[in-house]
Amino acid sequence: MTVENVIIIGSGPAAYTAAVYSSRANLKPLVLEGDLDREKRIEQPGGQLMLTTDVENYPGFPEGVEGPHLMELMRQQAERFGTRVETAWIERVDFSKRPFRLWSEAGKEYESQTVIISTGAGAKWLGLESERSLMNRGLSGCATCDGALPVFRNKRVGVVGGGDVAMEEAMFLTKYASEVVVIHRRDQLRASKIMQERAKKNAKIRFQWNAVVTEVLDVKSGKVTGVQLEDTVTKKRSTLELGGLFIAIGHEPGTAFLKGAVELNEKGYVKVKGRSSYTSVPGVFAAGDCVDFVYRQAVTAAGEGCIAAIDAERWLEANAH
Ligand code: NAP
Repeated sequence: MTVENVIIIGSGPAAYTAAVYSSRANLKPLVLEGDLDREKRIEQPGGQLMLTTDVENYPGFPEGVEGPHLMELMRQQAERFGTRVETAWIERVDFSKRPFRLWSEAGKEYESQTVIISTGAGAKWLGLESERSLMNRGLSGCATCDGALPVFRNKRVGVVGGGDVAMEEAMFLTKYASEVVVIHRRDQLRASKIMQERAKKNAKIRFQWNAVVTEVLDVKSGKVTGVQLEDTVTKKRSTLELGGLFIAIGHEPGTAFLKGAVELNEKGYVKVKGRSSYTSVPGVFAAGDCVDFVYRQAVTAAGEGCIAAIDAERWLEANAH
C-alpha cells in the first residue's frame, strides 16, 4: 500500500489551505473530503461555507464572494500544486503507530506518515423539516456571517438559544434589526452573567421565556415569516411574526471518529498544544473549527490550516526514516 506523506481529512478552508501549503512543499498531500449531505450539515464537502451565501469578511474579496465559490477556488488552488482530492468518509483511525492508518466507510484503507485533521464543526439544528427547507431563506446558524444581509434589515428577527453565543448574536443583530427576540426553552439563561446583563440592558432585545420552536413559517412562501412556539410550562401554542431566524443552540465538532485516538476536550474539540497544531499524538495535527470553538471564522481556519501544514512539514523533516 502507498504510504502518503500527508493525509488531510476535511474539505473546508483549513483543509484546503493546509493542502496548498503541503503541495507547494512537494509533499503531494491527499485530501479526503466527506462524501454525503447527511442529516448533519457539517458533513458536507466544503464545510460550513457551503451553507452560506455571501461571504463579506474574507479578505481579498471586496465585493464579497459566495461561500461555495470560495471553496471551489481554494480547491483549485490546492490542485494546481498537485493536491489529490478523494471522496471518502473516514470512520475509523489507528494512530497508535506509524504509518498511521485510516479506514473509510466504504472499506478503503489509507496509510500516512502524518495526518492533518480539519473536519470542522457545525451549528446544531432544531431538527425540524421546516428549518431545513428555509435554510438560507431567512434562517441561518450564524449571525456574524449573515446578520448584515439586507434581508434582515429593519425586521424583527428571532434568536433561538440561551447561551453566550445566542447573547452575542442577539446583540450583533440589534445593529441591523428593528427588534431581536431571544427564544429560550427555560426561564433562565445559560450565558455568563456579563453577557446576560449586556443583553438584558439592550433596549432592542426582548426575551421569550419557556418557549420552543415547533415550526418555522412559512415553507409555502419559501421564506421565514415567523415561528410557531410552544410554551414549555402551559403547552400553549402561539405564533410570532419574524423576518428572520438565527439558531444559536451550540456547535458540535466533527470528531466522533477520533474518540480514543487523540485527546479531545469535554465538548469533543481536538486539543492542540499552545498556538501550534500539535495534537496529543506526534505526527497528527489539527486545524480549524474542529479545534477552535472561540473564533470560528473562515479566515482563522485558513490560518490554522497553514500552521498545520508547516508543522507537518517540519515534523516530517525531523522524523523521516
Ligand atoms: P451553550 O453554552 O451550550 O448554549 C446552548 C444554548 O442552547 C443553551 O441555552 C441551551 O439551552 C440551548 N439549546 C441547546 N439545544 C437546544 C435545543 N435543541 N432546542 C432549544 N434550545 C437548545 O452553547 P454556545 O452558546 O454556542 O456557547 C458555546 C461555548 O462557547 C460556551 O462554553 C460559551 O460559554 C462559550 N462562549 C463564550 C463567549 C464569551 O465568553 N464571550 C462567547 C461565545 C461563546 P439550556 O440552557 O436549556 O441547556
